[in-house]
Amino acid sequence: MEFQNYINGKWISSKTTFATVNPATEEILAQIAEANLADVESAVQAASEAFKSWRLTPAPLRGELLFKVGDILKTKKEELARLLTQDMGKVITEARGDIQEAIDMAYFMGGEGRRLLGYTAPVEMPNKFGMAMRDPSGVVGIITPWNFPIAVPSWKIFPALIAGNTLIWKPSPETPAISAAFTKVFEEAGLPAGVFNLLLAPGAEVGRALVDHPGVRVLSFTGSTTTGRAIAEAAGRLNKKVSLEMGGKNAIIVLDDADLELVADATLWAAFGTTGQRCTAASRLIVQKGIAPKLKEALLARTKKLTLGNGLDLNVEVGPVINKIALDRIHNYVQVGQKEGARVLTGAEITDVNGKGFFYAPTLFDGVRPGSTLEAEEVFGPVLSIIEVNSLEEAIEINNRSKYGLSTSIFTQDVNRAFTAMRDIFTGLVYINHGTTGAEIQFPFGGVRGTGNGHREAGQTALELFTEWKSIYVDYSGKLQRAQIDNRE
Ligand code: NAD
Repeated sequence: MEFQNYINGKWISSKTTFATVNPATEEILAQIAEANLADVESAVQAASEAFKSWRLTPAPLRGELLFKVGDILKTKKEELARLLTQDMGKVITEARGDIQEAIDMAYFMGGEGRRLLGYTAPVEMPNKFGMAMRDPSGVVGIITPWNFPIAVPSWKIFPALIAGNTLIWKPSPETPAISAAFTKVFEEAGLPAGVFNLLLAPGAEVGRALVDHPGVRVLSFTGSTTTGRAIAEAAGRLNKKVSLEMGGKNAIIVLDDADLELVADATLWAAFGTTGQRCTAASRLIVQKGIAPKLKEALLARTKKLTLGNGLDLNVEVGPVINKIALDRIHNYVQVGQKEGARVLTGAEITDVNGKGFFYAPTLFDGVRPGSTLEAEEVFGPVLSIIEVNSLEEAIEINNRSKYGLSTSIFTQDVNRAFTAMRDIFTGLVYINHGTTGAEIQFPFGGVRGTGNGHREAGQTALELFTEWKSIYVDYSGKLQRAQIDNRE
């Protein structure tokens, strides 16, 4: 298999290629044409040219194209899900969910084509009219990670397009095959040339060039906090609008009155689903002391039974991690945790399946101290740290002290304590009696502190990044009317 870059409606090859590897088998899945700086230039030019007519295409018609993308995605769902699993390793049921999120977003934003609501308001002068409306922002640079190779780009691509922007997408070099296959769907739906451009490249050079290019007005980034900060610094110097969705260190809080079986099931899914490689993955279990012994027992039994393997196998529950570097990074955190005094209940080792793949045994840590490395840092792997507390207040305090602020959940049957938690937890997402993962596309998504910079993806709030408000005043009085001055004492 070979995949190419997509610029101005054409698939572009390259003298140099790089490989994408299936993390479950370590086999090369595909060779990828490597984009260079000249391709960045062509893509920005194409997107700038296409913007002239795309912004004038009536939004309901742009919406119809998005509906078509949704329809094609539906028919190709299984084919795309299988490619996604091979490209990044997540199990096939989750890969289908990844594609489904794009389908949901296609229809949701397609419908926005008949809204994109502005507003009118009364004005203070007679015979004068005022309204506020949304303009597209221009050429958008989209930079995404590998862990949700379709869902996360969808949160950016669909709202950008419906609002009348054109875009250049630079996906993670870990998932180029599924990124190119996704791009083909937009081509098939009949998007005009230059509206959607794809650049595939290893390393940081192409992404950096997009960030630095004066022709790119808006940047929408999801990835690590380190990369996000670097992007914000560079883009800030050019006055660009930048949205950052970054790391997480999410907690499940369990109070003594919680439904133990439900907590165990939900925690297992939130901690080890996607092999712990979700920005919303639960990596801290903050448990009240009364329920802790029984909960640990229930979790341990479930964790030990998890089946690791190739995500295409329907019996497999936990796939590989993305690559060897991630495997070593996760193991390093585990070793640091042990050195800092936390106790391993299970896991804590690099493993394989039939001698192949980047697999890490689902790991449970007990006795993790607040403030220790394991408690504070994003591990981004199948590692759950258990922290015992005396009260709800202590649990919330530990939760809120994190340098990240994406998702928190709380398990309790006491409505008063649930509402106290909803009020006092400071993260962008809060779940009651549900794990930390499972956002739906119609609500705002994003985090505070080290996780984000104040923007939200998904929901109608997604439009804020991709539009500029324009306020328009129409004076039909035929005379000079001075706001704040005439008609005033
Ligand atoms: P990463 O930061 O290494 O890479 C993200 C993207 O940025 C990739 O496409 C990469 O090629 C590009 N990039 C790297 N350096 C760059 C630079 N200097 N300039 C421009 N682009 C550059 O992240 P990753 O390893 O791909 O993804 C994992 C991270 O993503 C985790 O921290 C996870 O929490 C986070 N994440 C966050 C969310 C969220 O919504 N908050 C969702 C998914 C993943």
